[in-house]
Amino acid sequence: MKKTFLKKMTDRLHAEREKVISELGKISKKDASSKDGSDWNATYSDVGSDTEDDAYEVDRFGTNLSIVSELEKSLRDVEKAIASIEKGEYGICKYCKEEIQEARLEARPDSSSCIKCKKTFTQEA
Ligand SMILES: [Zn+2]
Repeated sequence: MKKTFLKKMTDRLHAEREKVISELGKISKKDASSKDGSDWNATYSDVGSDTEDDAYEVDRFGTNLSIVSELEKSLRDVEKAIASIEKGEYGICKYCKEEIQEARLEARPDSSSCIKCKKTFTQEA
């Protein structure tokens, strides 16, 4: 893998990481007891004490929970990719150990498998 390409992906992954963390920060709090710091708890925003407000809060909280779990997943993928850069293993398919196509990494810098394996393992078209 070319150094310039790797550098570009490193920058993009770090930018992505910042973005996800700031999104998470808006609707959740980092779980201080989590070992690897990758757990976030959705915050319950208290907008008021009327019954109507409470319904809104519960609804909102439910939505936040699912957004938080999506964001947590993205953050884990991005951090895994950053860790693999540090280990010099970035861009290697976790299944077949071949280099992942640059075009695929361009589209999704945190990809951990090549298109061929991704299709084989997830049945995606
Ligand atoms: Zn593969």
